[in-house]
Amino acid sequence: MTLEEKIGQLNQLDPSYDSEQKEALIRAGKVGSVFNVVGAKEVNRLQRMAVEETRLGIPMIVARDVIHGYHTIYPIPLGQGATWNPELIEQAAQLTAREAVQDGIRWAFSPMVDVARDPRWGRIAEGYGEDTYLTSVMGAATVKGYQTPMADSQWPAMAACVKHFAGYSVSEGGRDYNTTWIPGVQLRDIYLPPFKAALDAGAMSVMCSFNALNGLPSSANPHLNIDILRHEWQSDALLVSDWGSGSDLVPHGLCADKKEAALRCINARMEMDMQGNIYTDYLAQLVREEMVSEQMIDICVRSVLRFKYRMGLFDNPYVPEDEPVYCDPEMSKAAIAAAEESAILLKNNGVLPIVVNQKPVTLLVTGPMAHQKKEQLGTWIFDGDSSLSITPLMAFERWDMTSQEPVKVLYEPGLTYSRQKQIANSQQLMAKAKQADVILFFAGEEAILSGEARCRTDLNLPGAQSEMMEALAATGKPVVLIVMAGRPLTIGKQVEQAAAVLYAFHGGTMAGPALFNIITGTTVPSGKTPVTFPKMVGQIPLYYNRLNTGRPTYEPPVLIDDIPVGAPQFSVGYSSCWLETATEPLFPFGYGLSYTTFTYSKTRIEPIEERPGCYLVSCDITNTGKVDAYEVAQLYTHQVSGALARPLKELKDFEKVLIPAGETRTVTFTLTPQKLAYWHDSYSSERNHWTQDLKIEHNLWFGTDDADFQAWIAPDSRCQTTPVLFHLP
Ligand code: BGC
Repeated sequence: MTLEEKIGQLNQLDPSYDSEQKEALIRAGKVGSVFNVVGAKEVNRLQRMAVEETRLGIPMIVARDVIHGYHTIYPIPLGQGATWNPELIEQAAQLTAREAVQDGIRWAFSPMVDVARDPRWGRIAEGYGEDTYLTSVMGAATVKGYQTPMADSQWPAMAACVKHFAGYSVSEGGRDYNTTWIPGVQLRDIYLPPFKAALDAGAMSVMCSFNALNGLPSSANPHLNIDILRHEWQSDALLVSDWGSGSDLVPHGLCADKKEAALRCINARMEMDMQGNIYTDYLAQLVREEMVSEQMIDICVRSVLRFKYRMGLFDNPYVPEDEPVYCDPEMSKAAIAAAEESAILLKNNGVLPIVVNQKPVTLLVTGPMAHQKKEQLGTWIFDGDSSLSITPLMAFERWDMTSQEPVKVLYEPGLTYSRQKQIANSQQLMAKAKQADVILFFAGEEAILSGEARCRTDLNLPGAQSEMMEALAATGKPVVLIVMAGRPLTIGKQVEQAAAVLYAFHGGTMAGPALFNIITGTTVPSGKTPVTFPKMVGQIPLYYNRLNTGRPTYEPPVLIDDIPVGAPQFSVGYSSCWLETATEPLFPFGYGLSYTTFTYSKTRIEPIEERPGCYLVSCDITNTGKVDAYEVAQLYTHQVSGALARPLKELKDFEKVLIPAGETRTVTFTLTPQKLAYWHDSYSSERNHWTQDLKIEHNLWFGTDDADFQAWIAPDSRCQTTPVLFHLP
């Protein structure tokens, strides 16, 4: 390969080029990958130019932001996190690939495994929540789903791209692209493991993040891209920049110009340049000036070619041009199941499920999200076909029209979009509310309010939704609040006003039937919060696995109205707390109700004889209600003392189990030293505590302490069932 041909392979073509320019570049062998080209015929047409008209005939790989579905849209990834059901998410990813490959897309820029503890950050919608373990499991499931070969093929259907490497979600103030400062031990304990899990699941590519991590933007970060990714993890996945993240080094204040940016990126082994053109414009010159070795270029090119080989592109660069089939019955069934399991029942005074027997029931369907075919799909749905969407209103109206039961469905939106500041037709709305037996208020955020560069400082329901809730509740009729949003919103007041609350995120194409099934009791809700719901924005970041501080919150806490006027300085004490909200969230991580109740009992632990340091932790869970239901059993541990202060609790495992009414199931989890180990940076000073090194990297130690631990299995992160004690080593 000539130097120019090699550099061509490192270029991912900016989709904004017009066709003539695009084609000329492809024919000249200057394009390794294109993205945002859709349709088998068009993909094959361009591919033929690469394969048949260039000297070397190297096929291109076609990429796209396929994030939570293609034409059929599944819940946003945060909603997928709420399912706690990796098998379901793997299946959704597999079906997504099946749809997308028909249009020539062989590389998805997904999953995003950035652990997110800040709901102001709009991209919280795109990940699986705040927990490292849950994110790792869900990210790995998505990778496996995308990369499962199609029926008649041996090649991965669609390559996954795990992103954004690394530390992107910790942006200061929850403002996208902002700087992140993450100490090495925290980076390794919290933010890196999901990337490793995705790579272990076979992820074929990785995307750099936009942010500067501890002052150094990721695209130019050799510690992340070489030390950790290549040496420590031994990964040979392709590393691609984010959109222009290489050329962004200039505004970052790292490089004086784009040429220097290209130099910093290639030397940090950012292998493929998405959109930025810094490699096509400057690499050859940098090699000629001996600023960049051709050996480094070769390493990167090899990575691109290996990726293409592994995708089978050299064997068959083209995709079949059959008429694509979108949203087939299997896909729509999976979309309903995923949307059902992503909905979390946060409150229920008994109004749900709405079961209609002999007595006629009138329902009012209202709110800005009740009938929004596009908005219910959520962020990143370039190819999502909103004409396929079934909205909640459609599902309820179908019931009204087809059911034998005496049910009547009224509709009055009140607000036609979430930010609308004035309630429309409020008289009709109130008149219908008074006629109804139950009001179903579909509230939330439009899709455009979450996702990339959609950060918010106010997490209350936008527009006049709070007023509308107030007015509906004032009728005295039970209001079921259904929230369809891209993040946890601060809905404390509305929760008090509502008879029941279902948090549905943006549920995708089949959000309507899924919510209908839950509301009417055909499906029992089983979603659990993948992220802590704060009471107020001022509590953020608020997450369950925090350290306790030396001054934990008083029980009961001292709140602002408890303080007498003129109180002396010492009188309220000194505890770590906010005066308005204390430290409790609105809803904790891992929380969600059902239409039944479960009791947890007989937690027990036993060492595994043949595996020193390993234990089996079990408990019995009884479904004490009248309906069969899924429960997400969660294993938490707490390390009582350590070389470093240890979190209050940490999720170590979970299992979603179906428990028939009245029956008991035993869940058993395995705890290993690997699961209890953590990263530590002052080894020598704490030799007494630190007993077992599992590995040492860059002056950081990963291992376990000689310490007491507690373990318990619980329905959520707040509920402290009786713990069992054990000791390591
Ligand atoms: C986003 C990526 C995305 C890329 C390509 C960027 O702005 O950060 O997540 O894959 O655009 O569209």
